[in-house]
This record gives sequence, C-alpha cells and structure tokens, in this order.
Amino acid sequence: MAGIYVHIPFCRSRCIYCDFFSTTDEEKRDAYVSALCNEIRFTAQTYPHTRAHTIYIGGGTPSQLSPTQLARILSTIEEHFPPFPDTEITIEMNPDDIEEDVKCRMEDVKCSMFNVQWSMANRLSLGIQTFDDQILRFLRRRNDSATAVKAVRSLQDAGIKNISIDLIYGLPGQTMEVWQRDLDIAFSLGIQHLSAYALSFEEGTPLWQMREQGRVAEADEALSVAMYEALCDRAEAAGFRHYEISNFALPGFESRHNSSYWSGKPYFGFGPGAHSYDGDRTRWSNRPDLGEYIKFWGKSPSAGVLHPTGGDREGPQCSMFNVQCSINLTLSELYNEFVMCGLRTCEGVDLNELEARFGQSRLEYILRMAAPHIADGRLLQSEGRLRLTRQALMVSDDVMSDLMVI
Ligand code: SF4
Repeated sequence: MAGIYVHIPFCRSRCIYCDFFSTTDEEKRDAYVSALCNEIRFTAQTYPHTRAHTIYIGGGTPSQLSPTQLARILSTIEEHFPPFPDTEITIEMNPDDIEEDVKCRMEDVKCSMFNVQWSMANRLSLGIQTFDDQILRFLRRRNDSATAVKAVRSLQDAGIKNISIDLIYGLPGQTMEVWQRDLDIAFSLGIQHLSAYALSFEEGTPLWQMREQGRVAEADEALSVAMYEALCDRAEAAGFRHYEISNFALPGFESRHNSSYWSGKPYFGFGPGAHSYDGDRTRWSNRPDLGEYIKFWGKSPSAGVLHPTGGDREGPQCSMFNVQCSINLTLSELYNEFVMCGLRTCEGVDLNELEARFGQSRLEYILRMAAPHIADGRLLQSEGRLRLTRQALMVSDDVMSDLMVI
C-alpha cells in the first residue's frame, strides 16, 4: 500500500508568495501528461503489486489540465497502483476554475472540467487563502472572495461531501478583524476540512523581495500567535478536530493522504519536484525541471535505467540522467523524522513504538530531553505518548529541535 502524489506544475499566473514548482507555459501540457504516465508505469514495475490507499493530485493547479488529461493520469494510476473501494482521491482546485466551469455548464458545454473532476475524486481541496478582496488582489490571486464562496457552493450543489479549503494568516494587511471575518466565512460554508498556515516568506518569491526592499513587513509575532489561537478556538467551537498543527477536520474527515506522510507510510510522488519514500530507509525526489523531466520520461524508459535504491552516507546519489536523486536515511535521521512527525499530530509520539524501532537508549534520551518541557507545560506525557500541549503548538519547532539528535 502506498500514497500516490501527482504534481501538476501548471498555473495560469503566479501568486507572489508561492515557491511551489510550477510554470505558466501552457504548451507542454500534453507532453507532460505522457511523461507523467511513463513515470507512473516505470515506478509500478520497480514496486509491483502496490495498491494506492490515497491519491492526491496537487500542484501547481490540477484544474488547469483538461478533463481528458486528468482522466488519463487517473486511469494510469488505477491500472498500475489499483485503488481500494474507499481510496481517498483528492484533487486540488482553484476557485476561479470552478467559476469558469459553472459558466461553462450554463452554456451547456458537455466537456466540463468541473463535472469530470468531481466525478473522479471523492475529496476536493480549494486554495482560497483569504476572503479579503484587497489582500487577494495584492497576492495576485485570480479570484475574489465572492467567487471562492460560489465555488464551495457549486461543489456542494454538485453533491461533493468532502471539501477542504486552505487559508493563510499573517498576511500583509490582514488585521485580527480581517482574520476573524475569514474564519466567520470559512465556518459558515459547511466545509469538512480546513488547512491554515502562517504566511512564510520564501526566498526568491516576489513577496520575499518586497520584504527585502522594506515594502512589506512580516506580521508581528504576537498577532500571529493571537490569530492561531483564534483559529484553534473557532475550529473547536465549530466541531472541528485539531488533528495536526495546521489541519482541522470534522470527525472522520481527516486527510488520510497527509496523515500517511506524518505516520511514515510509503508514498510515491510523480512529476518534477515530487518526493517519494519507500516506507523503510530510502527517499528520492525528482529534480524541479519540467524540460528535463519531459525529455527523460517522455521516452518511456525501461525498468533498470534509473533505480531509486538510495545512496551512501556521503550524500545523495543522482541518477545518470540527473532527473532523480535518492538518499538512504541513517537511524538518527529516521528517529528525528519519527519524533517530528509524531509531534505534529494530536496523537503525539508513540513511546512504545519509538523504543521498538530505535532502542531503549533513544527512549531514555527523548524522556530526558522532554523533562524540562513537561515541567513547563509545553509537552504532555500520558498513555505511552508524548504530545505538544496547545500552548506549545506555535513554538513547536523549538521543542522539536530539543528532542532531536544531531
Ligand atoms: S499558490 Fe497555487 S495557484 Fe498560486 S502560484 Fe502557487 S501553485 Fe500556482
């Protein structure tokens, strides 16, 4: 069993805060889909008899592909990584694509992006970020607030019962009042899942440059903390379970795909920039280079020419074609990931499992390092688990780094 992630590296335009790998070049879409399907087939040969327990089509903007292209990708996954009847299939969409599709349907155009997409997926994730029109324009998002609300309503009218939205807090110009209004609207929509992230200034993005030039400032830390507190309170009041630092869901609607990343299950990522993990000690990733990706995978390589079995400890090993690099993780790295991923979730770190996997000395180490944080109320040890308390969620990086080994 594995989680399957497919990266669709196309966007109609670029938002100023985003450092995800994507391009506005529309020309390469067909060639890209062919290359992607070849990579999926090739990986299935290397890991035969693997079934998909989750499928996540993300990006970029998956809703920028045509229904035919998306259907081709999904049917290739289904053929080579057969899903289960209850496999979670998520597609990310941008609100403006849904709006256009609705217009499209009203004009009775049969080949409707919207219809095809929702019928293939059982979970849709909408990148909304904020409902404030002025901030949306500043971020160069293509939709306004009304379009975002309409998009959610359209999906619900179409019978989608598992809708997630993304929001960002700490945005330039976003006061506490604006954030509270974002939360008002979000929780009035009847969604099942909310992911909310603090804005980060990623190097190389236009937003990062603006900060370097002194044209925008990062949100004050006290305001960010207050916004996160408000988010947790409002989510709880709306019946959402805070199951991971940045994720909230109605009971039973937790993202199974993301949960498998945090619980160390194997996953295969397809497309430039995508990462994979064999569930044991090997990780590999594709270089974020669309041209090279299409050049290599477009030729349908046979099994054996590129083998993601990991390198030695002198650093990552890259394939001779330079499209994929892999690395074997040391036990210390695996321990660090186990602790970090466990602490991100509301279940926390399973101490029995930690001892079984990494030995008694690591268990003693984590308990020793955790003791001061337990004493000051940042960590809680109960029922064989170590969890972050709510007051520590905003400073989780400090606590996590204390529990790790160098
Ligand atoms: S935020 Fe989404 S739509 Fe905007 S540039 Fe990034 S991937 Fe594309």
